[in-house]
Amino acid sequence: MSKKLFIPGPIEVAPEILQAMASPMIGHRMPEYAALHKRVTDKLKELLFTRGKVFLATSSAFGVMEGAVRNLVGERCANFCNGAFSDKWHDVTKRCGKEADAIKVEWGQPITPELVDATLATGKYDSITLIHNETSTGVMSPLPEIAAVLRKYPEVVSIIDTVSSMSALKIPLDELGIDCCIFGVQKALALPPGLAVFTASAKALERSRTMEGRGYYFDFQEFAAMDEKDNTPSTPCISLIYALDRQLERIFTEGLEARWQRHLALAEYVRGWVRERGFDFLAAGPYRSLTLTCAVNSRDVDLADLKKKLGERGYAFDNGYGKLKGKTFRIAHMGDMQLADLQDFTRQIDDILR
Ligand SMILES: *Cc1c(COP(=O)(O)O)cnc(C)c1O
Repeated sequence: MSKKLFIPGPIEVAPEILQAMASPMIGHRMPEYAALHKRVTDKLKELLFTRGKVFLATSSAFGVMEGAVRNLVGERCANFCNGAFSDKWHDVTKRCGKEADAIKVEWGQPITPELVDATLATGKYDSITLIHNETSTGVMSPLPEIAAVLRKYPEVVSIIDTVSSMSALKIPLDELGIDCCIFGVQKALALPPGLAVFTASAKALERSRTMEGRGYYFDFQEFAAMDEKDNTPSTPCISLIYALDRQLERIFTEGLEARWQRHLALAEYVRGWVRERGFDFLAAGPYRSLTLTCAVNSRDVDLADLKKKLGERGYAFDNGYGKLKGKTFRIAHMGDMQLADLQDFTRQIDDILR
């Protein structure tokens, strides 16, 4: 039996999107592809509020997260770590042979502008990695305030992961001054996995130009050169790009404001349910994610059993990530999800726990 996904990624994909994936194949050096590529990147620029370059990479998010490190980390990188994905990004940075420090806070805590300021004031770093929305802990760090701090350090290139937040709220890249923003499409964008989107500011491209060991597949210079022809360095996942084209159309049909409002309403509904049922939150109020809620299992529910029973009813449930397994559970409220979907899901949980 297929399960409806309430896990924080991959996310439930609309039938219309699956259909778009079945579009007849075209060659990526044919004019048809260039037209598709331009249509998609133009719409992405609107979604990201940028006039800079937007690239499409055929990989999951970590492909570009590694690529960005290889292109943009010069002398030393500050990897801000507050969960599984950001911890991993530090590991990836080291594995790329780069000098890097993990600037760690406890899982469940945000990265604060004060921490970023104190870290960069040491003058040790020419680059940072930061995850806007730590999906493992349901923590959203205050990006506008962090971006304001980053503007004080123009020599630092900022690499920001928005995998599970992009499109759920306004993230105006140019206004914030983010150099490289990265997201996979299987979370906040509700597409099947396999495609990542990234941006590179003029500063980022300049940094990349002289960087040794960029490799080929994620070489930002290759992407920039091919972008001139509305194309990608190697064969892209064309089916997924058709799907993204359709999804962007759906996003703009809903309207950005309406989409942001819907995400807020969904988050408020789930938070209310968590509170009423006597569970705690891993994150403090202002830092609770808009796209997923990470609840602490303060009632000591057998989460593995709950997951199994929900599975039998056709619902995929997440009982915590990594070291938080069994101690927390996460409910996703992103992508195309509607209030009725979440009401149905929480009703099932209530029914099982009764
Ligand atoms: C899921 C996730 C990733 C990892 O993405 P892959 O597509 O599996 O490489 C990275 N960052 C965040 C915030 C995520 O939620």
